[in-house]
Amino acid sequence: MMIVMKQTATDDEVQAVIDRIQSAGARAHPSRGAEVTVIGAIGDVEREIQVAELGLETAPGVDRVVPILKPYKLASKQFNHDEPSVLRIAGAPVGGEHFALIAGPCTVETRDQTLSAAHAVKAAGATMFRGGAYKPRTSPYAFQGLGQEGLRVLAEAKAETGLPVVTELMDARDIEPLRDVADVVQIGARNMQNYPLLSEVGRSGLPVLVKRGLSATLDELLMAAEYVLKEGNPNVMLCERGIRTFETAYRFTLDLTAIPVLKQLTHLPVIVDPSHAAGRRDLVGPLSLAAAAAGADGLIVEVHPDPEHAICDGPQQLRADDFAAYAEKVELVASIAGKSFRAARASA
Ligand code: PEP
Ligand code: MN
Repeated sequence: MMIVMKQTATDDEVQAVIDRIQSAGARAHPSRGAEVTVIGAIGDVEREIQVAELGLETAPGVDRVVPILKPYKLASKQFNHDEPSVLRIAGAPVGGEHFALIAGPCTVETRDQTLSAAHAVKAAGATMFRGGAYKPRTSPYAFQGLGQEGLRVLAEAKAETGLPVVTELMDARDIEPLRDVADVVQIGARNMQNYPLLSEVGRSGLPVLVKRGLSATLDELLMAAEYVLKEGNPNVMLCERGIRTFETAYRFTLDLTAIPVLKQLTHLPVIVDPSHAAGRRDLVGPLSLAAAAAGADGLIVEVHPDPEHAICDGPQQLRADDFAAYAEKVELVASIAGKSFRAARASA
């Protein structure tokens, strides 16, 4: 449930409510809005009943006590005063009116390939750089990523371009080396329901991009985000990356409807990955523009200096030479939807 404090509530009154929630065995998650503070009292059903029995309605500084009806609590729109969250990723804002254009290769292959991609996307106006050092591959015999060597190359790309880095974590044991370079930890589609991993990235405090599982509903995606949030880590972005349907003409079906629907359900930024959805370069442009028009808070898109020779996902990676023209169109459509790249670029 949610305890909404009065506008006049003092810090001591807020703290007293937090102490009482904790004394009932629940977790207290305060969220300070421009006008009022709300405190989420989160726990299992029994803990929530105990909090309800505290009679906080009459506590000093409390305006009202409101139940959160959704199974996800901290992720619900209601919890953030019905306002979108604006995250700060290495100083760059994402969410609200701030659009993120995250671009880079599927995977780190070599130093040259990675630095070349990083410089190309930076020059064309990307706001973050992506690249996998640990790769989830369907075949155990396929390239699995360069691991720690890949992280070192990503660190170089970050130092040279100033772009924040988004990179995937698959195994909680790799979090320490990853922490040195990642500004955003990606939880891939295949790990969306790896609950110990989600809790671990929650505890790390690092910003997290949670990708929608191949067959996950929006409620399941939001519950995955809740695992990160419940550890006290508010820096969560969601990512629609295509789902499995009966259609076989392309790899996955990009669920564009998920964008406005998620925006009704949650305050978290919604990023769209057209590359893994389509599996084909020629579809990436149209899907990106459609996502921006539908109100996405950003795109994460694969870009390679030489896709014909890419180790993985070559057919879907945009050519680095074509990226500037792509970025220009995305910026135009995003601006129609009320989003701007300006503040994110200024901070990179
Ligand atoms: C990726 O972004 O590198 C990736 C593997 O995507 P997904 O987890 O969505 O398949
Ligand atoms: Mn890929």
